[in-house]
Amino acid sequence: MAKKGNIGVTSDNIFPVIKKFLYSDHEIFLRELVSNAVDATQKLKTLASVGEFKGELGDLTIRVSIDPKKKTLTISDSGIGMTAEEIDQYINQIALSSAEEFVEKYKNDAQAIIGHFGLGFYSAFMVAEKVEIFTQSYKEGTTAQHWTCKGDPEYKLEDTIKADRGTDIVLHIDEESKEFLEESRIEELLKKYCKFLPVPIAFGKKKEWKDGKYIDTDEDNIINDTNPAWVRKPADLTDEDYSKFYRDLYPMQMDEPLFHIHLNVDYPFNLTGILYFPKIKNNIDIQRNKIQLYCNQVYVTDHVENIVPEYLTLLHGVIDSPDIPLNVSRSYLQADGNVKKISGHITKKVADRLHEIFKADREQFEQKWDDVKLFIQYGMLSDDKFYERAEKFTLLKNVDDKYFTFEEYKELVKSNQTDKNGDLIYLYANDKNAQYTYIEAAKSKGYDVLILDGQLDVHAISQLEQKFEKTRFVRVDGDVIDKLIEKEVTQQVNLTDVQRQAVTSIFNSQLPKMDKTNFIVTLEQLSPDSNPVFITQNEFMRRMKDMSAMQGGGMMSFYGEMPDSYNLVVNTGHPLIEKLVKDESAATEARIIPLRAEYEETSSKLNALRDSHKDKKEEEIPTAEKDEISDLTKKLEEISDKEKTIYKAYADGNKQISQLIDLALLANNMLKGEPLAKFVKRSIELM
Ligand code: ADP
Repeated sequence: MAKKGNIGVTSDNIFPVIKKFLYSDHEIFLRELVSNAVDATQKLKTLASVGEFKGELGDLTIRVSIDPKKKTLTISDSGIGMTAEEIDQYINQIALSSAEEFVEKYKNDAQAIIGHFGLGFYSAFMVAEKVEIFTQSYKEGTTAQHWTCKGDPEYKLEDTIKADRGTDIVLHIDEESKEFLEESRIEELLKKYCKFLPVPIAFGKKKEWKDGKYIDTDEDNIINDTNPAWVRKPADLTDEDYSKFYRDLYPMQMDEPLFHIHLNVDYPFNLTGILYFPKIKNNIDIQRNKIQLYCNQVYVTDHVENIVPEYLTLLHGVIDSPDIPLNVSRSYLQADGNVKKISGHITKKVADRLHEIFKADREQFEQKWDDVKLFIQYGMLSDDKFYERAEKFTLLKNVDDKYFTFEEYKELVKSNQTDKNGDLIYLYANDKNAQYTYIEAAKSKGYDVLILDGQLDVHAISQLEQKFEKTRFVRVDGDVIDKLIEKEVTQQVNLTDVQRQAVTSIFNSQLPKMDKTNFIVTLEQLSPDSNPVFITQNEFMRRMKDMSAMQGGGMMSFYGEMPDSYNLVVNTGHPLIEKLVKDESAATEARIIPLRAEYEETSSKLNALRDSHKDKKEEEIPTAEKDEISDLTKKLEEISDKEKTIYKAYADGNKQISQLIDLALLANNMLKGEPLAKFVKRSIELM
């Protein structure tokens, strides 16, 4: 039977659409054609298993070959084949509805168009000027068929002779698509799309090095693993199988994964797969998009952003679901209900599996904690459902490398670290070396100190403060130890006003000048055992600056540009400071007392004048009085300056003051360069 006809499309012609509009993704034609061959083979196996096909199955290998001279690429299968009627029905009739409108909308998205029209086979015309089908159906008494089409609506169908059952699709590759006649290009594509197809795919023969060149052996060059780990039962797989499969997937990945999760769902949707937790180091972004999405073992994409929640894109591995359409377009995925369910389900599975490992082998879990921590925090911060599951196994690590669950840690610190308001204070450090003195001070009080030095810890702290009740996180160097966890009313500073002013001024006069760094001298009456001088940094400002360093922009960059502000805390309860106060009074009193008296007098005059102006309007005040106010103000400044000069002269002559400041800086790792050299010299002089 020979016949000519037009491809049945309701729109004028599908070919310009295929050729012209589908600019990108031309390579997927190969996936489409090989998938068809796999389907035809699987169908035959099914028919054989139910007894409808009684012949020999024989070798079912699908063969892909190229002939550069004839400029053809051929895909041959030994599947069910097609009868003339079937070609008519499945190939000649393309159901197109409102094609033009659709194509206009998706002209850059070949996936969407091919998916929408079920144009798998016709994608061949993206790269071929002519396509031939040679096919022999498995049905007894049918004649082999030869179909030809040159990329116009006209096709030709005629009887032919074909020895073997199955289908050969022959593509006459067009001028612009010559790359698809290159062996390396085709091998690359087969490895990308067909690596785990369930029927063996051969591309040429295995090669052997002989007499100075590669020659073909008799053995087929099989591209794929037909029985990949994810389709097998977890019970049949060893740890070694899982890690071998990981290396198959990511030959370039050096690190072993930490854990794996074998997914196997059949209700309410079908989903199999294996997910791996990779070692996540510092840069989260490089690691994204490693999960590969398959549909019945056919590779679809490694862009899974819309299928799994964002933080899970850090995972590696495969997901295979026939419920996610093979030709996925992004817009489609976002709207698809199945996809949403899948995403929720994967989240649950991941959390459950982590919980399982935690319960079954806590030691192993702790060992790997530092590496999975970032991932889990990312999940907790971005997904409340995940937080709820993860709070049972999330660990907190202290400066002595001990790990605690949230519950355990609360138990540990509850009695000793609750402040006078009933708030539980979690102390933490983010740099064990730099904050050593503070950590030791906290420990000497019996406090525990967490180590929170991760990329997301700043955010995690804010989250935990919201989730936990009456709990605050305070960095160990956030204040002097007695104030980090305020237990009872703190003692008042035991100095006269003049003494307070003197101590503040003396220390102010000796503060180091540092770029973008401010110090504020504050006085605290602390225990004589505490250091005489400390440096602390306000918790709120420090967090804001940390966050701005991570995010940048907006309100955060405002904080980023502020100078670092530290408190220089002088402990007036320390014997050294007590002695200093006495010594300083003796040295400066004679000059300061008259200045003070003058200051008081001037300042009461000024206040009296200001009082008398209280109810007057600006223009009602006589000029003479205005002048007097400005004279008095100036005088006050002069007196202050004189006092400061006296204090500075005293401080310049008392090496102890600079020494105390430098020791505090040193304890904070802030003494460097010239000031450090001066400190060393002064220390020697003092000995
Ligand atoms: P889809 O595979 O989505 O149905 P295609 O355009 O790729 O769309 O194929 C249309 C139909 O043509 C298939 O459903 C199948 O019945 C038939 N077909 C295509 N390729 C083969 C093949 N290699 N062997 C047997 N039948 C095939």
